Amino acid sequence: DALGEPRNGRVMAHFGQQVEIEAVDGEDCGLVQRCHVRANVTSLVTGDAVIWRQGPELGVVESCLPRHSLLARPNMQGQMKPVAANVDHLLLVIAPEPEPFANLIDRYLVAAEATGIEPVLVLNKVDLLQMPEKRERLEALLSIYQRIGYQTLQASTQLEQGLDHLKSLLKDRISVFVGQSGVGKSSLINALLPGVDLRVGALSEDTRKGRHTTTTARLFHFPDGGDLIDSPGIREFSLENLSPEIVAQGFREFHDYLGSCRFRDCRHQGDLGCALAEAVTRGDIHPERFASFLRIINA
Ligand code: GDP
Ligand code: ZN
Repeated sequence: DALGEPRNGRVMAHFGQQVEIEAVDGEDCGLVQRCHVRANVTSLVTGDAVIWRQGPELGVVESCLPRHSLLARPNMQGQMKPVAANVDHLLLVIAPEPEPFANLIDRYLVAAEATGIEPVLVLNKVDLLQMPEKRERLEALLSIYQRIGYQTLQASTQLEQGLDHLKSLLKDRISVFVGQSGVGKSSLINALLPGVDLRVGALSEDTRKGRHTTTTARLFHFPDGGDLIDSPGIREFSLENLSPEIVAQGFREFHDYLGSCRFRDCRHQGDLGCALAEAVTRGDIHPERFASFLRIINA
């Protein structure tokens, strides 16, 4: 038939039964074509690496390569639905306003740990930290996370501060931005992806083809290297119903203690010989993080 040779590609976006594929090899690397998906290839998502063949009008996706991560969100029916594959980096954006509460950060971090995607804490709007008490409070909060091995970064889209550091982190990786509404995710993305109207980009293809629009994630290339996967749903990505065991695993500084409680079925809620509680007493686990853990599992 008129199809080309099998080659490597990346799913850029998803439109109903079809996907948009970008060639990632060959002389015309970067070429984008709308594709059918062979019936044996199940549920492709944005970010998937695929084998595909170019076609005269539509191409065809023949297989999906193994994923190293999968981001999922619950749909309207509460079922988890995969939305993005092969994401390397989760940029968790916080700001002085709206003020972050530690528990919210921990909920995002647990969700990130459960998917195996490396989180980075981005404190945006540092221009609002003129008052020393406010600055000290937020830096103390960040230091809790630095001490347990999370990378943190300060930025201000207003002062264009921290953007070069951010660009260097985004290189050679697929990233997503998450965080509560109002912290400046859109502003950061607009600063890093000048000239791209995210919403228009994600929806125009659908309307042109007269397809029913579902809000799907799209992959974008940063001009200085690296990729972004974005959709309104991804930005709100947060903790779903995870078992207490998975939540405990999501607190990375707990790992050394989880097998050491006196009782195998320790609930870490005042149980005798709880290794986590003892580590808190010794100062090896931050009391706020432990309180946050209990709040999540008892929610
Ligand atoms: P999102 O909801 O996380 O996407 O946040 P937006 O990007 O829409 O930003 C929310 C508000 O914060 C807007 O009014 C922005 O102008 C403002 N904002 C974004 N970045 C900064 C910053 O670095 N400093 C200050 N002071 N305001 C900012
Ligand atoms: Zn315990």
